[in-house]
Amino acid sequence: MTGPATAPPPRLLVTGGAGFIGSHYVRTLLGAEEPAAADGGVHVTVLDKLTYAGVAANLDAVRGSDRFEFVHGDICDADLVDALVAEHDQIVHFAAESHVDRSVDDAGTFVRTNVQGTQTLLDAALRHRPRVFVHISTDEVYGSIDAGSWTEDSPLAPNSPYAASKAAADLLVLAGHRTHGLDVRITRCSNNYGHHHFPEKLIPLFITRLLDGEEVPLYGDGLNVRDWLHVDDHVQGIERVRTGGLAGSVYHIGGGEELANRDLTRLLLDAVGADPALVRRVEDRKGHDRRYSLDWRRIREELGYRPRRGLTEGLAATVDWYRNNRSWWEPLRSRAAVPGAPAAGVRP
Ligand code: NAD
Repeated sequence: MTGPATAPPPRLLVTGGAGFIGSHYVRTLLGAEEPAAADGGVHVTVLDKLTYAGVAANLDAVRGSDRFEFVHGDICDADLVDALVAEHDQIVHFAAESHVDRSVDDAGTFVRTNVQGTQTLLDAALRHRPRVFVHISTDEVYGSIDAGSWTEDSPLAPNSPYAASKAAADLLVLAGHRTHGLDVRITRCSNNYGHHHFPEKLIPLFITRLLDGEEVPLYGDGLNVRDWLHVDDHVQGIERVRTGGLAGSVYHIGGGEELANRDLTRLLLDAVGADPALVRRVEDRKGHDRRYSLDWRRIREELGYRPRRGLTEGLAATVDWYRNNRSWWEPLRSRAAVPGAPAAGVRP
């Protein structure tokens, strides 16, 4: 006698899963972050090129799992992507060039990975029709807003080459739904922070430098405003969209913690216990967006999302993690871009 047939576990292809957010997502699904947030059923394959931002060690905690596989490769490799998409029934697409400063110096890599790479995944999805394709995007696609907040229907008006490449990818993903009926879902989130964040992004750059008693470079007048989202909450939002979102829909994921960079810097100085004299004003980034602000009522009302991590507690936990995990970040500093340094990518 055989029992009732059970559905095979979902097979997820996670691109960019060795990066900051992608690896947090994978560790969460496989129970290596909060055990309560794990999905006991899924099998996860990570496809990652391991660029300067990809850190193989980010996946050490799940490497032994029989529900995990790692493929070293490029999302622009059409044959590899085709073979992988054929074997998976869901795609969660994080892979991207993600650092705005680098896009100001060299936009070509951003167009290749963020636009052409996304289209390569969509082409394979058209051939194999995965059940779900979640595309991870950003609030930066809207440009800058002085007051109020963007809804998911606000027009795209990106300013940096990074944001322009993400906006192009978003439009291609939506075309995959409107033209071909693919089940695509887009998330656009605000600025993330948390552990395993590459030490060239503002928060980990400042924490690691302050821990070493080094100066931190604050752009312009320090009044640029961002809404800070703990990566745990971002992952929670993505999971709600993957499991309950509607085909063809865009969902904002916000943190509810808007702050000027100057005030964030003050919080970081306090959390590390560092001297305020270590803050050095540097020339503003070209085209630096003044403020981002997302209205995230849709994901709250339709999918029950609520951020759980407060900024003060989240920053304290993040500082503790960097204090206790020097062996993770010290080797990465030599490949981090630092504003105001003699040349991007070279530490003073
Ligand atoms: P990250 O730079 O830490 O990681 C990106 C990962 O993608 C790396 O592991 C890298 O090796 C991989 N990758 C790059 N090019 C690739 C290619 N051609 N083929 C395969 N893999 C490739 O980025 P992150 O901060 O984790 O961001 C993940 C996603 O979230 C990105 O799509 C980004 O645009 C989006 N996002 C990030 C933030 C944020 O605050 N960090 C905010 C909004 C949206």
